[in-house]
Amino acid sequence: MICPVERLDHLAAFQSPGLPLTSEIASVIGDGPASPSWTIPYSPVRGMRVTAPAHVFATDPDGGDAVEVELQGLVGDGTVLDGEFVRVGSDRLDGAGVLASSPSADYRFAPDTTEAVHCITDLAECPRFDAVNVYHHVDSYAREFWEDRMEVDITFRAEARVHTAGDGGFADWPTRSMKLGVGNIFMKNSALSDDLIYHEYNHLVMASLGFEIGVGVSEETRALHEAYADYFMATWTDDPRIAEWVVTCPPRLHCEGPPDDTDLRTLILDAETWNWRQGQPSETLKYGACLRYHEGDRKCKQSWNNFTSVYVWGMIWGAALWDVRTAVGAEIADGIALAAVRRHTSETGLDEALTHVMDEAEGRYGPNVAGAVAAAFEQRGFLVSVDTGLDRPESDLPVSLSIDVWPNPAEHSVHLRLHRNSARSQGPAIWTLTDLLGRQVLEGAMTDSQPASIDISNLTSGLYRVTVRVDDTMSSALFLKMH
Ligand SMILES: [Zn+2]
Repeated sequence: MICPVERLDHLAAFQSPGLPLTSEIASVIGDGPASPSWTIPYSPVRGMRVTAPAHVFATDPDGGDAVEVELQGLVGDGTVLDGEFVRVGSDRLDGAGVLASSPSADYRFAPDTTEAVHCITDLAECPRFDAVNVYHHVDSYAREFWEDRMEVDITFRAEARVHTAGDGGFADWPTRSMKLGVGNIFMKNSALSDDLIYHEYNHLVMASLGFEIGVGVSEETRALHEAYADYFMATWTDDPRIAEWVVTCPPRLHCEGPPDDTDLRTLILDAETWNWRQGQPSETLKYGACLRYHEGDRKCKQSWNNFTSVYVWGMIWGAALWDVRTAVGAEIADGIALAAVRRHTSETGLDEALTHVMDEAEGRYGPNVAGAVAAAFEQRGFLVSVDTGLDRPESDLPVSLSIDVWPNPAEHSVHLRLHRNSARSQGPAIWTLTDLLGRQVLEGAMTDSQPASIDISNLTSGLYRVTVRVDDTMSSALFLKMH
């Protein structure tokens, strides 16, 4: 797991008290007067930034004791959790809508991971630590993931509230707000879990890019929003499991059944089961099992954290994105996901989303990557239509042939898919595999309609060229054989 705390030092340009804005920073956050405006939604902050010492969890309480960090990007004198990317407070400790503060600008508070559920009725159970932890994780995620790695300009400030009643989290774009629940029956305090914080913040970032969900938006669109909120979190933490620390389940006592799931969701899911089936996914899909003995009813009760279409379909889409990441690597998969999200709107369903994904994969990374992306979505039961150019008049087209080769690198087998744009090349397709010295090591025939699968388990590791010939036209691609 990547530890955000270890990667703060390259942000030094942001952190000196009194440092004038550089033109680069000013271009991101605006160049207006120095006094911020406190109306909702909050505009990007203008003026000076300071840092302040703080205690936070590097990831969540399972990831080790709280560590000391410097909070970045605080405005004013640093005595309020009011920063460049996020403002945080507790309705319980600070008052409704009021930001958390420290008169000495020192946020080294002690965590309490045990009884936050009682914070709703007992102020003594509301740790000051929680707002600080949320501030740190939103701020560092906005800087390091969204701005540095994804090169997205964050144009809004999030309004985060901790110590909200109930399980889980919540995000609302019109008010730029995200709320972290103290937990209830099935979850603990969300403010202590970096991945849940990232998930809620991702909803806001995607809305800021034009992919908004609001009242009346379809379940498919909401499912997509959940899927990408999970995906962008998981690609940053490099961990497909979500909320392992937060999820809990009351004692099951004598109740018998399969083991409880130990995370809220995951993106590593069996492709046969978690399958879109061309719009007819199984209606029995559920995830996040908890079997408990219910004291009041004196009954054993089984429940699931994810059982509605929005979350189940979202998990299928999220798993497909994770499959793509596994096939082509995080950098390319993240690039495709972000480019697709920029094209998604409040009207986008899964079919249109897939068109966006395939367009961006092909346009940005070429046919080999597009082939791998198509294979990942096909395996999850999506119908991928490949643009062969056949809808254009044939006379306008040169005779051409292209192939998709995936996965790359490959271990046991590689798959080939053939695209030919002209009826003039009608002969049989022959593929050959050559090593880097040009020696032919394997050969076979294939058809247009069927991808070919080549067993390469006996080849030594290294680069190979696969070439497909039809009549006098040919296309080739390199792939890496690994052991
Ligand atoms: Zn969500």
